Amino acid sequence: MATKKYVYSFGGGKADGNESMKNLLGGKGANLAEMAGHKDLRLPVPPGFTLTTDVCAYYYQNKRTYPKSFKVEVNKALEKVEDLMGRKFGGAQNPLLVSVRSGARKSMPGMMETVLNVGLTEKTIPGLIKQSGGNKRFVYDAYRRLIMMYSDVVMEKAAGIEPKEEMGIRKQLERIMAEMKKQKGSKADTDLTDDDLKKLCALFKAKIKEVLGKEFPDEPQAQLWGGIGAVFASWNGKRAISYRRIEGIPDEWGTAVNVQAMVFGNMGNDSATGVAFTRNPGNGENNFYGEYLINAQGEDVVAGIRTPAPINSYSQSTHNKGLLTLEKGMPKLYQELFDIQQCLEQHYRDMQDIEFTIEKGRLFMLQCRVGKRNGPAAVRMAMEMLKEKLIKKEEAVMRVTPSQLDELLHPIIDPKAELSHKPIAKGLPAGPGGANGQIVFSAHDAVEWAKQGKKVILVREETNPEDVEGMRAAQAILTARGGMTSHAALVARGWGKCCIVGCGAMHVDIAKKELSVDGKTLKEGDWITLNGTKGNVYEGQLIMMDASSENKLLNDFLKICSSIRKLGIRTNADTPADAAKARQFGAEGIGLFRTEHMFYGKGADEPLFILRKMIISNTTEERKKALDELYPYVKKDIKGTLEAMAGYPVVIRLLDPPLHEFVPREQAKLEQLAKDLNISMEELSNRANALHESNPMMGHRGVRLGVTYPEVSAMQIRAILEAAAELIKDGLDAYPEIMVPVVCDVKELNDQLAIAKEIYAEVLAKYGLKEIKHMFGTMIEIPRASLVAGKLALVAEFFSFGTNDMTQMGFGFSRDDIGGFLPEYIKKGILAEDPFQSIDQEGIGELIKIGIERGRKARKNLEVGICGEHGGEPKSVEFCHRVGMDYVSCSPFRVPIANLAAAQAVLRGKKK
Ligand code: PEP
Ligand code: MG
Repeated sequence: MATKKYVYSFGGGKADGNESMKNLLGGKGANLAEMAGHKDLRLPVPPGFTLTTDVCAYYYQNKRTYPKSFKVEVNKALEKVEDLMGRKFGGAQNPLLVSVRSGARKSMPGMMETVLNVGLTEKTIPGLIKQSGGNKRFVYDAYRRLIMMYSDVVMEKAAGIEPKEEMGIRKQLERIMAEMKKQKGSKADTDLTDDDLKKLCALFKAKIKEVLGKEFPDEPQAQLWGGIGAVFASWNGKRAISYRRIEGIPDEWGTAVNVQAMVFGNMGNDSATGVAFTRNPGNGENNFYGEYLINAQGEDVVAGIRTPAPINSYSQSTHNKGLLTLEKGMPKLYQELFDIQQCLEQHYRDMQDIEFTIEKGRLFMLQCRVGKRNGPAAVRMAMEMLKEKLIKKEEAVMRVTPSQLDELLHPIIDPKAELSHKPIAKGLPAGPGGANGQIVFSAHDAVEWAKQGKKVILVREETNPEDVEGMRAAQAILTARGGMTSHAALVARGWGKCCIVGCGAMHVDIAKKELSVDGKTLKEGDWITLNGTKGNVYEGQLIMMDASSENKLLNDFLKICSSIRKLGIRTNADTPADAAKARQFGAEGIGLFRTEHMFYGKGADEPLFILRKMIISNTTEERKKALDELYPYVKKDIKGTLEAMAGYPVVIRLLDPPLHEFVPREQAKLEQLAKDLNISMEELSNRANALHESNPMMGHRGVRLGVTYPEVSAMQIRAILEAAAELIKDGLDAYPEIMVPVVCDVKELNDQLAIAKEIYAEVLAKYGLKEIKHMFGTMIEIPRASLVAGKLALVAEFFSFGTNDMTQMGFGFSRDDIGGFLPEYIKKGILAEDPFQSIDQEGIGELIKIGIERGRKARKNLEVGICGEHGGEPKSVEFCHRVGMDYVSCSPFRVPIANLAAAQAVLRGKKK
């Protein structure tokens, strides 16, 4: 058997791997190979090699050791790099330095470790000074960076040492450096001379020995292997694990490690480093967009310590306007970079996020990957690339995730409210939309407060990937430092979260839990509001509103989705107003009109009072009288909804909840009811008590009400059919589907169908009509109903799966109080997610499949849909597509998301 290849080289116009090998080489490694070796690219990538994810798997399966052949392979690959660079690793004359970086299948920005300048030692320092043209300052700065990074990443974190807050080795070294700067009265790091830095390195080493009890390894091989081990170890670091949980990245993927020749953006003023996007990731505009720093190393851009300059005039903002653009400062190199980015976008046919370094006037490409983008940008890029014929419509649909689409439907600050408030500060608009919340100053507090149901905004001094869980829990993130490409910005953008970074005017005092800005001090718990699209920070709680106004690109995008999907998309709506709104969102019908909702909320007082009279009635006579009074209200609402839907189907469900839910609790209401019914308070209380049930959700509800009180069903069916008849008489279209809920046996359906038939004949006669287009069907929400679906379908012309109750009764979990144990179930991995949010495909899904199969066997053209909350959840929508439903139905705001998910389900199905 051929031995497994663990190390893949790239550089010098060649590469062992390519872009398609992401699983093995990680995203970064695969793209480096592609950039370096693909015949259409062959870009200036510093040579290097990738250690595969197989090595990571081996490392964890074998007590953190490596495969046998591995060291030999690494040394060979290192020799290749030496040859290509004409430098020697550990060589005193012309030393090669390397970077050691992580690179998982899916990018996890800032969640794992990196060690730079590996190979720099007392012995190689003179050689590097020579290489840099005698730039001692640069070399000692590189050395102090290595010592800081190595001691932090390798000697502390990878060694599993967990220091107390503020006592980490990096913090301690930073304090030494700050102290030196203070003594010298210098402000910036660049004010320190080579001698200062040399002294600093010695001080650092002594501190490391004192704190960690070990010497910093001044030996290239030790540094290399220490770095490799630390990067593999960081796959299981705390923040990487949290990030994986949030993003759903499997633990067994592992990371690859990239070892690559160092090139330096900090070799002087003819050197620079930057991050750029082939299109604007904040709004999708087709313009090259990015930031760079002269005389700096990549980490300075990402860490957001200095404010980066715009690469071109397009990338200018109010915050960096005064700074020299790359386009002006280094026009030739800018042009070279511009051409490369164009070439990369054409090659990958998607927006790329690229990292570059200029070393002494020479451009190097360090990384490229598909760039993260927010929702508005995703839709815009997809539609524009389609227009440019860069991608096909199917690809355009796959380019936008349902959650990105959700962002477009997200709240913004009410523009009127915003006009009347002056921002207390401005920062970089890193994540769009608006948010308000109470200030917290640590990730831990953000998580704790959010658990208590509070809306919080996480305020930090600078961006820190360790805050990832707090960032997730917060409504929004605000930082004093950092640029558009800093960690907080990247992560927030990926999640579509409102975020402002680089708010320089704000001073944050973490210890005191205070921020001060513009002469004001705000404390923990105070409210602020952010406009992440503009970068404005406001004091107090400004009103929010929905942002889903007219958006042509979005509408065009949704039209394409509609042209691809097979599922129909309906909405759950209970009022004529909701129905009209749902039509605007593109709903093709109503999948659930919950009759009982007309007794809640605005304008419900009168019908509710009559309904109560009906419930408390003791005799059929009394009940019929109340029903007659109720009739016009019910008919009016149904008629309005049928009219708004203009001939699209409207599934109207007969009364479902247990009646006692409607019994008044307030004394005054009870008294009024007794008076109206002409009964004593005692009698009223007796009748109300008689309605009490121990398990109301499994009690006298749904079809059971219709069976015991046929006149209740009769009134509703008459209202539905007469509403339709009146519309038809007015020359309009109407298409009601009468739905019987909580059915478990076909005899229940027969019972109700008999009522429906009788009334249908009466209504036809009354209006002189030959036909009223309608259907009679049932909900499938009790597990038994799925099992006997074959019989039900002999009577029902349609099925609608009520997956809320089906989940409740299938699992035996109360849909109202699952919160008591669900978090523990998720934490322990007993449940992967809340089954009330995403259909449990294994169990409940099986019941659905059985129901459809048996139902369709009995009635070939049986219409099948879903009206439980799952109907708007992307994974569940895909499931509904796979099992052959005709439509999904969800709340109006989720209609566009269901539309996209349904289109993607078709495309994913084709791929298989
Ligand atoms: C269901 O049970 O899934 C359903 C749609 O009905 P409701 O939520 O009204 O019980
Ligand atoms: Mg139900």
